[in-house]
Amino acid sequence: MPESATKLPSKILELMDGFRASKALFVASKLKMFDHLKNKGPLKAVDIANEVGTSVCGTERLLDACAALGLLEKTPQGYSNTDSTNTYLTSDGEYSLHGYIIHSNDHLWPLFTFLESAVKEGSRQNHRAFGKKAEDLFKDYYHSQEVKQRFMAAMHSIAHLTARGVATAFDLSRFKSACDLGGCTGALAHELVKIYPNLSVTVFDLPEVIANTSYFQPSAEHTAPVTFVSGDFFKDNLPEADLYILSRVLHDWPDEKIHVLLSKISAVCKPGCEILLAEMVLDDEKKKRRTALLQSLNMLVQTEGKERSGSEYRTLLEQHGFTNVKIRVTGNLLDVILCIKT
Ligand code: SAM
Repeated sequence: MPESATKLPSKILELMDGFRASKALFVASKLKMFDHLKNKGPLKAVDIANEVGTSVCGTERLLDACAALGLLEKTPQGYSNTDSTNTYLTSDGEYSLHGYIIHSNDHLWPLFTFLESAVKEGSRQNHRAFGKKAEDLFKDYYHSQEVKQRFMAAMHSIAHLTARGVATAFDLSRFKSACDLGGCTGALAHELVKIYPNLSVTVFDLPEVIANTSYFQPSAEHTAPVTFVSGDFFKDNLPEADLYILSRVLHDWPDEKIHVLLSKISAVCKPGCEILLAEMVLDDEKKKRRTALLQSLNMLVQTEGKERSGSEYRTLLEQHGFTNVKIRVTGNLLDVILCIKT
């Protein structure tokens, strides 16, 4: 027996269990257990089971697992949310991740069960997970109102959480107008107009998305208006702007489609106009950034795209006349790239 075998391989054991912990989080979120616990002080498993309509024995085991995972506090009086659970896991918190968790449970989990096929075939697995083969992933998402709403809520929760970091990674105060291509619910756009009051922002997205954005808007007194325009960024005319934003858009597509989109932006961009990308940027050797590398697997199971390194983004941008490519690795979920049309 090698000497290393006398010590338990804790990292491997933790990875083997990783899916159990994820699923415990997903199920407690889906059953809105954290919502029931919010502001109610400690509750016993039987009270939560009665409120949610679940078995007492199953609920108790799930709550104990959540407490052991650090999501709940357990005392003799019962279970309560931690501060972080109140902020991120209840469905109505300002920075709630509930939308993304439900998307992970209902959409990404079934797709990841076909990771093996995705790796063997090198392509997305929507048809295996959901029995449909649409032209692209957004046709899959937008075929039903329920799936569309779930996807938009997921995008909104991450975009809202990361918006400030993206908006302030570079000083954007010199711009008067920006167009957020694929800007979805407008979460980043609203943060931009809050930080840069002289900036007007247009969100450009597919008609199915634009028709659904009202649900996600902040109340009018808290923010300057954002304009929403519907269209297809591969086919339609793009709005004029000094700054084009692509947040979590390029990672959805293969290089060929990125060339179509960047050449359209380049054609409408005047010299001096800039592009801002927000993506998880891989290190050049593709070995350090674990979250981004796992996100690239997430892209494999559901899109034609992938996560890319800073050099790969630079090469794509420079081919369309965008230079002075600056990359800010933020250490948060999204890194930011800025470049100028010369
Ligand atoms: N930018 C948002 C964010 O960071 O949360 C949303 C990112 S989401 C992964 C990609 C967005 O691109 C979706 O809102 C989708 O509807 C939009 N999109 C996809 N294809 C598009 C197209 N052909 N024209 C316009 N928007 C498109």
